[in-house]
Amino acid sequence: MRTGTVFNIQRFSVHDGPGIRTTVFLKGCSLRCVWCHNPEGQESRPQAVVVENRCIGCGVCTEACPVHLSPVDLRRSAKSECALCGVCAQVCPTGAREIIGHPMHVDQVLSEVLADRVFYEESGGGVTVSGGEPLLQAEFANEILQSCRSHGIHTAVDTCGHGPWETLQRVASHADLILFDLKLMNSARHDYYTGASNENIVSNLRSLAEMHDAVWLRVPVIPGVNDSEDEMDSMAELASALPGARRVTLLPYHRAGVGKHARLGRAYPLSDTPTPSSDQMRRHVARFRAAGMLVSTGVFR
Ligand code: SF4
Ligand code: SF4
Repeated sequence: MRTGTVFNIQRFSVHDGPGIRTTVFLKGCSLRCVWCHNPEGQESRPQAVVVENRCIGCGVCTEACPVHLSPVDLRRSAKSECALCGVCAQVCPTGAREIIGHPMHVDQVLSEVLADRVFYEESGGGVTVSGGEPLLQAEFANEILQSCRSHGIHTAVDTCGHGPWETLQRVASHADLILFDLKLMNSARHDYYTGASNENIVSNLRSLAEMHDAVWLRVPVIPGVNDSEDEMDSMAELASALPGARRVTLLPYHRAGVGKHARLGRAYPLSDTPTPSSDQMRRHVARFRAAGMLVSTGVFR
């Protein structure tokens, strides 16, 4: 059985596909979206972090750490000296120290997923492999999906679509449903806001929608970033031309990710960006409906 790096397993998830699901978050992503709500999933390797507002400055962690890294050291300059042994997280009395990301075997993931099988059966749910970006741990993702399928569990993958087509094709072949994030059609702006241009993503989406008949698009709606008429029209036009993608979920931006970025010692450039109004969301929904899509709104992820 293969081992991968998992940073969260969320049970009773209702935002990552139909029914009640268990969402398995794999570490590592090839994009750096400035609005990311799971920034702790971006780096591939595990990370030691400090939740600032929980730290009472008692020094227990520094004393126990084999290389005596204090919370300040960890936030600033000395991260590379951290061996990720996890001792600080074990001794911290307030839970301020955390290790994000742990190695897991496929069978460990499977046993967590199987624990809620009755809820999937009752609700039409299943498992969703998310991230980060599952394509960065494609073989691990494939084994999770195959194992779940062999137990009759509905499988979904949540992807940003950035990566080699052959890798996406293989992962998609083990998934009953693909949740595909579409962020921006203007490639230069895509590069500016996510760290990569979108040609590979759009090409992958076109190919995927030819081979798979259950692709659900997920579009974050972010004022000032991708909510212009041009952008939304271009996305709706692309969506309407995809045979396997008949459904889209629009996700209104909100600032809930600010705290996570702070915990990782990162700036959050969209802290002044507002949540789109109900009227704005209604106009975007109407635009995608006019393009022939089944449209819903969801929770910004
Ligand atoms: S994970 Fe280990 S090495 Fe890293 S800061 Fe904590 S105790 Fe020190
Ligand atoms: S043990 Fe926890 S509360 Fe005490 S200094 Fe370290 S991080 Fe802060």
